[in-house]
Amino acid sequence: MINFMNLDFKENALEPVISKKTIEFHYGKHHKAYVDKVNELIKQTEFDNMSLEDIIKNSYEKKDLVTLYNNAGQVYNHNMYWESFGIGQKLGADFRKEIIDTFGSLEDFREKLVDEGMKVFGSGWVWLVRNEKGNLEVITTKNGDTPLVSKKEPIFNVDVWEHAYYLDYQNLRKKYLENVINFLLKM
Ligand code: MN
Repeated sequence: MINFMNLDFKENALEPVISKKTIEFHYGKHHKAYVDKVNELIKQTEFDNMSLEDIIKNSYEKKDLVTLYNNAGQVYNHNMYWESFGIGQKLGADFRKEIIDTFGSLEDFREKLVDEGMKVFGSGWVWLVRNEKGNLEVITTKNGDTPLVSKKEPIFNVDVWEHAYYLDYQNLRKKYLENVINFLLKM
């Protein structure tokens, strides 16, 4: 059985960037539905005692486990998304320097995240990861895919599924990305 995480902020804490109403739906309905689906699928199976990460790795590219893989991936991705708010402060000065060394400036880094997020066609995620060589890298994934199965270590992500922004921004994904990225990277 996997857990439905608690938010460590109030549902109105991200306003006006993300409304209380969006959190109520995105966290309270969408995220919860992925958790419930995983728990329904793993009940009385070999997956029941596994960690979320192991469920994802062990269902990856298995035809009969696609639904489990997708839902488990979405739980993992959403757990990380909610934890990404305030990441700028959690990671501190060394991280800031590494970002500048890697991407040129904080502004270039923000732009890179927005540009990559805009390139996701349909539903997906934009991520900051540490790649196999130990370097920071901005990548995107589709649908419920996670960097876990590509051996890249995720640091934070931004949800670019429409349900993440439609109530607040309608079709304006770019505005959502700019606002959210500025907000979560406040250093
Ligand atoms: Mn979402």
